[in-house]
Amino acid sequence: QFMTKEEIKAKVAEEKVEFIRVTFTDVLGTIKNVEVPASQLDKVLNNDLMFDGSSIEGFVRINESDMYLYPDLSTFMIFPWATDAHGGKVARLIADVYNKDRTPFAGDPRIALKKAVKRAKDQGFTEFNIGPEPEFFLFKLDEQGKPTMELNDHGSYFDLAPLDSGEDVRREIVLTLEEMGFEVEAAHHEVAAGQHEVDFRYDDALDAADKIQTFKLVVKTIARKNGYYATFMPKPVAGINGSGMHVNMSLFNEEGNAFTGKDDDYLGLSDTALHFLGGVLKHAPALTAIANPTVNSYKRLTPGFEAPVYIAWSASNRSPMVRVPASRGLATRLELRTVDPTTNPYTCLAAILSSGLDGIEQRMEPTASVDKNIYLMDENERKKAGIQNLPDTLLDALEELEEDEVVIDAIGTHIIDKFIEAKRIEYTSYRQFISKWELDNYFMNY
Ligand code: GLN
Ligand code: MG
Ligand code: MG
Ligand code: MG
Repeated sequence: QFMTKEEIKAKVAEEKVEFIRVTFTDVLGTIKNVEVPASQLDKVLNNDLMFDGSSIEGFVRINESDMYLYPDLSTFMIFPWATDAHGGKVARLIADVYNKDRTPFAGDPRIALKKAVKRAKDQGFTEFNIGPEPEFFLFKLDEQGKPTMELNDHGSYFDLAPLDSGEDVRREIVLTLEEMGFEVEAAHHEVAAGQHEVDFRYDDALDAADKIQTFKLVVKTIARKNGYYATFMPKPVAGINGSGMHVNMSLFNEEGNAFTGKDDDYLGLSDTALHFLGGVLKHAPALTAIANPTVNSYKRLTPGFEAPVYIAWSASNRSPMVRVPASRGLATRLELRTVDPTTNPYTCLAAILSSGLDGIEQRMEPTASVDKNIYLMDENERKKAGIQNLPDTLLDALEELEEDEVVIDAIGTHIIDKFIEAKRIEYTSYRQFISKWELDNYFMNY
């Protein structure tokens, strides 16, 4: 809920808030913050908080590093846990990054998403609604408080205690999120041991992206408090399911959900929904670089672990990249299943939205839906059905991204150039590393 500057000041005084964290997200999706004592609140609220952006990943060069943080007042929130040494309260505000000359900074992912949302508004869409399903693993901490590779339990899908010993932590996560204004719809043990999921109610894209960032902070904080380490790494353990972050999405206009078709429409989906889907499928290879931005992401996108491997969609089957969940009316939506939680939610939603809008503008038709389990089809059958593979590696995905003008435009060349540069370095560093698998398979054989 929106608060005025005066209301925020009153709240900070009344609740005896001692520190304000002003947060933003770098190009790689990491949340960053400048923390100021409450005495500096006026400066923050007047958009006068300066910081040096030169060391932030993907930001600016040394000689132009003075930047401003413009807080979004609607994001004001007091953390429900005490964070300073003597138990004082800490609040946060999410900010946009501005240049020294007070123009919006082209390297700020949050600003990129605002631009994409504006483009949708210009086309008559009032909201791009996003319901995320982030998954994560809980590992035990050792006596020194360091994360171990020991999972917190041996539970599986929808298990209960004692198999699910994450129950208490998960409840505390949910209660904390509710205190922070989230509407949590469901929380459950996931398929893999030690794996959990928390789903929160859909929101307009910008709020949803802000919430995803806040969510990760809450999960990590509460897990640690309970002796666990929470990781959003897509595939921490080989041989079991990885962690995705399914993105449920729909476009709304003045009349309601623009994805909802008439009763006799194909699958009850509107043309808008089908064209949006066409756009997402068309741009899927480049989108993958944004939605799955780590070397490890591609170890999740392999057959047999409920993660997508092919560029396809279905109304009934969960193996493809896009599924159409059964609900219609207000809840008509597309579920994009490739995304994993290492994505930068701001650039990711900007890229998905722009791909979909491109589909709508150009009236793209999706490929035929696939109602078989694609994992059971052989290569020939897939070829006949026009089903392409998702990029196999981060490198392949980056090469696709470099060729996709729509996705590049959606995010802006400043961010894309910094992103690709950083990711190529990451890939090269990985390629030079000798893994245990290689030693196990080659050392004795050659
Ligand atoms: N963990 C699976 C993935 O990697 C999803 C499993 C599920 O939500 N049913 O996407
Ligand atoms: Mg789910
Ligand atoms: Mg799940
Ligand atoms: Mg899902």
